[in-house]
Amino acid sequence: MNRKKFSPESLMMSYGYKPELSEGAIKCPIFQTSTFVFDNAKHGKAFFEVAYGLREQKPNEELGLIYSRLNNPDLEILEDRLCVWENAEDCAVFESGMSAITTVLLEFLKPGDLLFYSRPVYGGTNHFITQILPKFGIEVLGFSAKDDKQEMIRLLEESGLGDKLAMIYVETPANPTNDLIDLKACRDIADNYANKERKPLLAVDNTYLGPIWQKPLEFGADLVLYSATKFLGGHSDVIAGACLGSEALMARVKTMRTFLGNMAVPWTGWLLMRSLETLKLRMEKQVRNAEKVAEFLRDHPKVEKVYYLGFLEESNPEQHKIFQKQCLSKGSMVSFDIRGGEKKAFAFLDNLDLIHLAVSLGSTESLAQHPATMTHADVNEDEKEKLSISEKMVRLSIGVENADDLIWDISQALESV
Ligand SMILES: *Cc1c(COP(=O)(O)O)cnc(C)c1O
Repeated sequence: MNRKKFSPESLMMSYGYKPELSEGAIKCPIFQTSTFVFDNAKHGKAFFEVAYGLREQKPNEELGLIYSRLNNPDLEILEDRLCVWENAEDCAVFESGMSAITTVLLEFLKPGDLLFYSRPVYGGTNHFITQILPKFGIEVLGFSAKDDKQEMIRLLEESGLGDKLAMIYVETPANPTNDLIDLKACRDIADNYANKERKPLLAVDNTYLGPIWQKPLEFGADLVLYSATKFLGGHSDVIAGACLGSEALMARVKTMRTFLGNMAVPWTGWLLMRSLETLKLRMEKQVRNAEKVAEFLRDHPKVEKVYYLGFLEESNPEQHKIFQKQCLSKGSMVSFDIRGGEKKAFAFLDNLDLIHLAVSLGSTESLAQHPATMTHADVNEDEKEKLSISEKMVRLSIGVENADDLIWDISQALESV
């Protein structure tokens, strides 16, 4: 009998876990332990040789369990399962999305290097790139979704730093406008600037659509990053992050993680494994709900514009082409401009009954917030205008509730505006 290659959603309940190593427990226990006992001194020596890269790992030799800053079963099994979704060689999980992102930036950039990054990026990422990396002598240069490949190359040429390009960092779809960046074009640019000494990397924050609806590794990304706090966790009860890529790159990421000490803890690993069992179910329902909500908003007289991947065909054919190329779904993030301004937007937010007023996204419960004064409060005014993040904008993250209830709530909150 040929074994069937099971789908990720079929594997999430048991992949990588051996019940016989845990008294037959069907679920992976929480290995709440700081250190692991070696069978004998020879084993301990062999584990450290591999962990510290003192020799090549032998074929089929697994890295033994040493100490929970280096490895722990709850993290390793979770990492194996995330690799299944992403079809990646290796993964590292972190105690936050910011940890995953900053570890990658610190590992792969050095003084004199250029980081070319898409704008807008997540607020925390933006702060680290613009305020912290320059302190280490790293040059940073931004581009926006409105810049096509020619314009991106022009920006690099104009900066005079093209030969220093070490990484292109992209967040797509962008928050809160759902602007798309062409991953294939970014790969081409990274390759154009490659030479004997350097091969620029492409890193993609895939929090908004991944791992189900967008697969950056297939479009030439070297590293994929997540705030696992969002869809992967999906219940607004854990902060976590992840990075995936080739074995060679991930070995560097994991070594940096060992020395920064920002790995996820066993409890976080256990929570995320539980979340992954329902990842596809949750995301499919969220996408269906978001479609209904977006259509309701589009036809509402108090709504001026809806920012939703499902409406690009009419509103922006160029963006729609990118959507068709690299996105597998319209996602569950919907932003809209309300006629009026901050006062009207706040009235809407304050009158919601079922949907909660909170930042974050990707969870089972629907959330609403005001990007201009909340998640994007520290983006400067010019930039906000350029990116269409105005006082009129409300961002919704759609959850798994009954769609009619969500629409009722949005409708009554708009009535009271
Ligand atoms: C939330 C978020 C982050 C940061 O993740 P944390 O888990 O809060 O550290 C990074 N990128 C995106 C796109 C996010 O939404």
